[in-house]
Amino acid sequence: MVNKKVSKKDIAKLLEQWGQQFIVFAPSRESGVAAFAEWDGKDTGFLDWYRNTVVPPKASFLPPMEEMFHFQKGEEGYSIEPSAGEENKRLLFGVRPCDARAMAIVDMTFKDAYEDPYYLSKRKNALLVGMGCTNPCESCFCTSMGVSPAESADVDLMFTDIGDEFLIEEVTDRGKELIAKTKGLKEMNKGDEAKAKQSKKTAYDRVTRKLDTEGIKDRLLASFDDQEYWEKVAAKCISCGICTLLCPTCYCFDINDELVKQEGTRFRSWDSCGFPLYSKMPMENPRQEKWRRVRQKVCHKYEFYPMTFNVIACTGCGRCIRLCPVNWDITRVIESVPNKTGVKK
Ligand code: SF4
Ligand code: SF4
Repeated sequence: MVNKKVSKKDIAKLLEQWGQQFIVFAPSRESGVAAFAEWDGKDTGFLDWYRNTVVPPKASFLPPMEEMFHFQKGEEGYSIEPSAGEENKRLLFGVRPCDARAMAIVDMTFKDAYEDPYYLSKRKNALLVGMGCTNPCESCFCTSMGVSPAESADVDLMFTDIGDEFLIEEVTDRGKELIAKTKGLKEMNKGDEAKAKQSKKTAYDRVTRKLDTEGIKDRLLASFDDQEYWEKVAAKCISCGICTLLCPTCYCFDINDELVKQEGTRFRSWDSCGFPLYSKMPMENPRQEKWRRVRQKVCHKYEFYPMTFNVIACTGCGRCIRLCPVNWDITRVIESVPNKTGVKK
């Protein structure tokens, strides 16, 4: 339900107010690339430059490197001391609809048979404030993946840009509660709704890249053993891992211990199925060749995830296209999967 609005010039005051209850994260270029970072209490310049972040918001819940616990070896074996848990609630301001959907997709894995306490302790208390796109990138294809650039059911509040102001939509009860406690918001008027409608339509129409995913799960299944095809698809990939590390739906991690004498710390850090050592096991590496690793990346998103969770693990955010150093393009790959299913499209 949309019933409130806020002036862009009052966003700092709004975040300041929310900062009394939450640690507020907002888009920032402080680290050298656009990423969600703890808001510095004054800068709202991101409203002018922000299209989407390079580092997706998953990093706020699954950081690139994270301490899991400390351990110490004593006379009676090892003792373990958990790392400090998450106590403060986070509010992420400005999450794009594709990335909010990606968080919902990652949640499925971390809430599945094994509940990941590190991820969930941060995620369950977090509030996502979405912001519709006004200027999608050429590489975005969210509208082909069931995501709207302007609307989202995966956030708590949704902001729509109507010029000098944002309309605020309450999406969840938690969002509604926050708005009820927030001071200084204005009531929307009759003309605002028409402006929001136009703004949403413009955003939708600007996503011009399209991808037809009909039957993709079965096409991939039928082409799994087509080595010649996968070798062709993988030819130019240099296994840098960027497309997976910065994909908002990828969540693989590696675990390492840092040990000094009798004590140490266990960390986990982002990993990628694109790396040659990723699947190395004591006796063998089932994905030694690059084409097998590229096949894994594509099939995990478009075949295995739909088999497990009934959803494609790609939101069309376009990062893997924008950021790949050799212009590998997942939409061209999905379009080129041979149809060996015997079913005509
Ligand atoms: S970003 Fe490009 S080159 Fe790097 S692993 Fe992905 S597809 Fe390969
Ligand atoms: S596969 Fe590419 S387009 Fe799809 S969600 Fe990941 S980074 Fe975005």
